[in-house]
Amino acid sequence: MSECLFCKIASKELPAEIVWEDDDILAFKDIKPVAAVHVLLIPKKHISSINDATTEDIEVLGKIQIVAAQIAKSLNIAKQGYRLVNNCGEMGGQTVFHIHYHLLGGRYFEWPPG
Ligand code: 5GP
Ligand code: ZN
Repeated sequence: MSECLFCKIASKELPAEIVWEDDDILAFKDIKPVAAVHVLLIPKKHISSINDATTEDIEVLGKIQIVAAQIAKSLNIAKQGYRLVNNCGEMGGQTVFHIHYHLLGGRYFEWPPG
């Protein structure tokens, strides 16, 4: 059994508020939201970080962006705008080592980030 938190969410061993699911991708609400909309999108396959992605993962990682845009539309943040973020590694702010993309919306975000 995997010890990875997001693998456990993907396999339903742990609960999450799921907003999208298909064979390859799960999207669920972040447990500590930093914006009115804060959804995490993961491939169900375990990939530790973008550093560990290979050409085999191009399809699922590309699809995640399309699904993120669909979720943004369904949550009514598409027109106002939103941010899709991947944190990689310690200095990038990654704390869960199963690749994930944060879909953040419902407020303004600064650039460059702090
Ligand atoms: P990272 O810092 O790795 O880019 O983002 C990890 C995210 O996972 C954080 O925003 C954190 O709040 C979220 N998170 C951590 N544990 C859980 C959990 O058990 N359930 C959910 N839904 N989100 C979690
Ligand atoms: Zn995992």
